[in-house]
Amino acid sequence: MEPNTAAARDESRQPSPRDLEVLSRQLGRPVRDVVEIPARCVCGNPLVAATAPRLGNGTPFPTTFYLTHPVITSAVSRLEAAGVMNVMNEQLAGDDVLAAAYRSAHNAYLKARSDIGERSGIGPVPEIDGISAGGMPTRVKCLHVLVGHSLAAGPGVNPLGDQAISAISEWWTADTCYCEGAWDTTGEAPSRDLSRHGPQGLPDIVGRPAPVRKTSGAAEAGQ
Ligand SMILES: [Zn+2]
Repeated sequence: MEPNTAAARDESRQPSPRDLEVLSRQLGRPVRDVVEIPARCVCGNPLVAATAPRLGNGTPFPTTFYLTHPVITSAVSRLEAAGVMNVMNEQLAGDDVLAAAYRSAHNAYLKARSDIGERSGIGPVPEIDGISAGGMPTRVKCLHVLVGHSLAAGPGVNPLGDQAISAISEWWTADTCYCEGAWDTTGEAPSRDLSRHGPQGLPDIVGRPAPVRKTSGAAEAGQ
C-alpha cells in the first residue's frame, strides 16, 4: 500500500457501509450526511466523520469535522470539565502568535469544508460563509470541534486542537488502537435517533444537526 498517493487517500476518505455502521455504534444513533472519513484509527475505524456542509434536508451545516470515537470524545470532555477552554482563551488573549495561528486554523477549516463540499457535489453554501466552528477564529467554545479538526487536518494546522490532543495522551494516542470495548458491537446498529444532547459547537443559525455524541442513558429518549 502507498497511503500517500492521491488515490489511496481518496479511497480511505470514502465512507464504506461498515464505516457508517461503526459511526452509528460509536455515536449511539444513525448518522446522516456523512460524506468522508477524514481520520482513522490505526486499525481503520473512523475517528472523525466529515458531514456535508449542507444536510440532505437543505440545512446549512458548518461543523464539518465531528469527533466520533468514544475514547477520544470522553477524554476531551474531561479536558473541558477541567477548565482547559478557559486556559486556552486566556492563552489566545495573551499570545499574538498563537492568536494568528488560530485565525489561520479557522481559514483552513473553511477551506477544508469548501473542498469537501466540492468533492461531495454539494458546492458552495453561502449561508455559512466565514463561519467555522468551535469558537474559531477568536474563542474556544468546543474542544471536540478543535480536536476533530486537528485529527482531520494533521498536526500543525490547528494549534489548540493539537494542544488538546497532547493533553489527552494519557487516554488516547494516535499510534494505538483503543477500539476494543469502546462501543457496543452486539446486536443491530442504531437505526433510530435516541439521543437528546446537543451537537459539538453548533452555532444557533442552523437547525437539526447530523450526529451527536453518545452519552450514557441515551436510550431513555424516545421522540
Ligand atoms: Zn481501532
